[in-house]
Amino acid sequence: MVLAQLGGSISRALQQMSNATVIDEKVLNECLNEITRALLQSDVQFKLVRDMQTNIKKIVNLDDLAAGHNKRRIIQQAIFNELCKILDPGKPSFTPKKGKASVIMFVGLQGSGKTTTCTKYAFYHQKKGWKPALVCADTFRAGAFDQLKQNATKAKIPFYGSYMESDPVRIAAEGVERFKKENCDLIIVDTSGRHKQEASLFEEMRQVAEATKPDLVIFVMDSSIGQAAFDQAQAFKQSVSVGAVIVTKMDGHAKGGGALSAVAATKSPVIFIGTGEHMDEFEVFDVKPFVSRLLGMGDWSGFMDKIHEVVPMDQQPELLQKLSEGNFTLRIMYEQFQNILKMGPIGQVFSMLPGFSAELMPKGREKESQAKIKRYMTMMDSMTNEELDSSNPKLMNESRMMRIARGSGRAVREVMEMLEEYKRLAKIWSKMKGLKIPKKGEMSALSRNMNA
Ligand code: GDP
Repeated sequence: MVLAQLGGSISRALQQMSNATVIDEKVLNECLNEITRALLQSDVQFKLVRDMQTNIKKIVNLDDLAAGHNKRRIIQQAIFNELCKILDPGKPSFTPKKGKASVIMFVGLQGSGKTTTCTKYAFYHQKKGWKPALVCADTFRAGAFDQLKQNATKAKIPFYGSYMESDPVRIAAEGVERFKKENCDLIIVDTSGRHKQEASLFEEMRQVAEATKPDLVIFVMDSSIGQAAFDQAQAFKQSVSVGAVIVTKMDGHAKGGGALSAVAATKSPVIFIGTGEHMDEFEVFDVKPFVSRLLGMGDWSGFMDKIHEVVPMDQQPELLQKLSEGNFTLRIMYEQFQNILKMGPIGQVFSMLPGFSAELMPKGREKESQAKIKRYMTMMDSMTNEELDSSNPKLMNESRMMRIARGSGRAVREVMEMLEEYKRLAKIWSKMKGLKIPKKGEMSALSRNMNA
């Protein structure tokens, strides 16, 4: 089960529960069992899931909840907190400082994406004004140095390695020393992997760490390894002091739950995720927005920030006022499309706005999505003011749809598709109803409110 499916299953379980007239022990148990099943199918380690279930039951004491409390919200909040707890070890990883040499050592099994990730990490920091350098201490895999060299050359990042020297410890030490002299502030050491966790691999890692004294050891893990993740991560942690995790191949059909388990095993935070083979397919990982999206709650804190960023200042109070009244009209959708198209790159903005990301704009298909939005807007141009300002979808009967299709030169089927999209978004955005309209600077209070 890929993470998006996991998110879907969890949201469905919560939805089913909220459909129940009375939420009692039985309903809560059914919901938790459903969520447990989804997490296990996604390869989250059994013990973690069991602990999570026990904790939620401890927190959510139905008898203690005073009448009138929103039980669904309380349960959703408990699940949110528990998932965050699994993913957040509570201590941040070492953060390198610009201008001061830091050594970052990458470890992981062969094929996990270690070499690719080293370059992505270097490239990410280079764009932010760092002076990174790459050292290839992988003498085990034939072609590893060539691969690193090729990537580094493409990104114009200095690199060090050798075709002749077979001692990885020596190469690592020499490379680090050289780049320290050259005033590089982020010296990245790519180490060997093996197909399996072997004693020789761990011994080599220990020696490289001894020789280079890394400020941070990053464990790179392929998100598709499933239930094996916990044990693998723990084995690495026991051999070398892992301080952070990067999970790769989150774009694939991986069961991402292994990643959650790995964090628990290393007690280190996930700092980035790899979302493709290309150098820039690399994202900073933040626990709360990730879990919010997983639970279909939308990233409300990011969303409010984006409203301030995307929506022109003079439109903000009116938009928030309308949303708080539960009025997500077609005109609002139109205006947000306008704002988003003006902003570009739309991918980043979209992924923040609840509901706008996965369905309306699949990753890697930004151009098509942009065309789709423009098409929707052309159709909305053929609508009357009454249609645009109504939040009642029933208003849109067949003859109106045919008129809009004719007016915009599109098929009725396309008008229907656009209206379906509107309904979907309106449902998600209806969560803003009853919202206390925040002033700028009150965003965090709001996001707590929304997530509650
Ligand atoms: P290493 O043996 O751990 O150094 O692994 P490599 O860096 O050589 O990566 C193994 C394969 O995984 C290569 O084909 C990479 O292009 C691919 N890869 C690495 N990261 C990602 C990712 O985030 N997404 C996808 N789809 N492929 C990746």
